Amino acid sequence: MKLSVVIPLFNEEAVIDTTYSRLSEVIAGLTRDGLVTDYEILFVDDGSRDRSLEILRRLAAGNSGVKVISLSRNFGHQKALAAGLLHCSGDAVVSLDADLQDPPELIRDMLEKYRKGKDIVYGVRRARGKDTFFKRVTARFFYRMMQAMGVDLIYDHADYRLVSRAVVEAFRAVRETNIFLRGIFPYLGFSHEIVYYDRDERHAGETKYPLRKMLAFAWEGITSFSNVPLRLASFSGLIISIASLALVLWAFYEKFAGRTIPGWTSTVIPIFFIGGLNILFLGLIGEYIGKIYLEVKRRPLFFIRETHNLGGFERRD
Ligand code: UDP
Ligand code: MG
Repeated sequence: MKLSVVIPLFNEEAVIDTTYSRLSEVIAGLTRDGLVTDYEILFVDDGSRDRSLEILRRLAAGNSGVKVISLSRNFGHQKALAAGLLHCSGDAVVSLDADLQDPPELIRDMLEKYRKGKDIVYGVRRARGKDTFFKRVTARFFYRMMQAMGVDLIYDHADYRLVSRAVVEAFRAVRETNIFLRGIFPYLGFSHEIVYYDRDERHAGETKYPLRKMLAFAWEGITSFSNVPLRLASFSGLIISIASLALVLWAFYEKFAGRTIPGWTSTVIPIFFIGGLNILFLGLIGEYIGKIYLEVKRRPLFFIRETHNLGGFERRD
């Protein structure tokens, strides 16, 4: 059983050493108990501008179990994590933040579920007491809104999760560039379980997710998984068309009741009519754009859980 731990990081010189030693301790424990026979710690340097890469080079030189990918520039947490997932070789892969907010000790619980046959184990925060008030409120709003938009998400699950090799292979087939991992894993399917943990404070350094990045992240989530905003256009088009029809009738009524000056009816009716039609057809075009959008993503038609005597990837149990 080979365990991969993927750690995306951006300007984390202040924590890398601590993270590495705490993680090493956990892995040593797992190895001692025979839960893990081989491991790799794969750091993905997301274009750090501090001494992070230097530290990683040193760690890699001292331990062949430490692997490093350094991206050409800052691509963002999600893409850095994807790079790690696509380059790791473990039977089970855990993704972890570099700042020790997600306790590495939880990997043991995750592995236990994995050994019971679960393909995805989601780490979910039990309490957010240590997050700032602002972070808590915005996070809750985010999960609620995503739910309202029909996006399948695990509530309060960030990116601390274990996935099996089968899931990594399925993920490999997802070729979209607008990547929102928290939505992708529930979308992949497979059997899953949740383990709860208390999220700690960031060990050192500052958050790499300022409000600007948080908003971009939320927007990415909505627009890559939901057609609801587009539907809104068709829906309001329909409502406005119906309303404008009523207004047309009203304009005629006023004319025949003799309460209008000449020219009013013939001016106002086309305005209502064409306005309603405009929005309705805009919505209709939107529906097709939505379909095109889904097509160009080229999402795979299916994902395989296991195969037998077929060659290639076979399931672990
Ligand atoms: N991160 C990254 N690229 C970025 C921003 C963040 O790889 O552009 C990493 C960061 O180093 C950390 C993880 O993503 O390991 C989560 O970021 P952070 O802890 O700053 O976010 P928060 O916990 O404050 O939401
Ligand atoms: Mg953090």
